[in-house]
Amino acid sequence: MTRADLDAKVEIAVNIIAELNDAAKTALPYETGGLLIGWRDGDRVVVRRWLRLGTSHPRTNRFEIDTKEATMVLKHYLRTTPEPLEGYVGAWHTHPALAPPSETDFETFTASAAATQGPLAFIVLATNGGSSTAHIAWAGHQGAHVAIRRERTITVERARSA
Ligand SMILES: [Zn+2]
Repeated sequence: MTRADLDAKVEIAVNIIAELNDAAKTALPYETGGLLIGWRDGDRVVVRRWLRLGTSHPRTNRFEIDTKEATMVLKHYLRTTPEPLEGYVGAWHTHPALAPPSETDFETFTASAAATQGPLAFIVLATNGGSSTAHIAWAGHQGAHVAIRRERTITVERARSA
């Protein structure tokens, strides 16, 4: 583990990034997204799993989470998980191009964090079908404000064929 890992406010397993990359490529040319599941360790967010949310109107430039559906999917998941510590810790969505999180994305992250007691993690997985980049952000209350931290960017390598 490097110093950077110890300083990171979002801990996320490499296999989750790889799985989100697969989901992003499968959804092309549209965006897809969903929730992040895990737990909090002080102001750090540990991401352990992801859930996908459907959309009846897939779009190429925006993924909006349907709050009703998100609540239902989350409730169902938490009823069936054997991990009592697990809960909602953030959201992910994809970009069908190598575009970083937009201003609208950061506004959404801020609004979500403002409405949530603990800190949240956000992942934007950008892919053009070949290369992919995962943008990881953290958002949480700091005093009266919501702070956003651009945590790091991970370039996803093409999976090696067996
Ligand atoms: Zn976006």
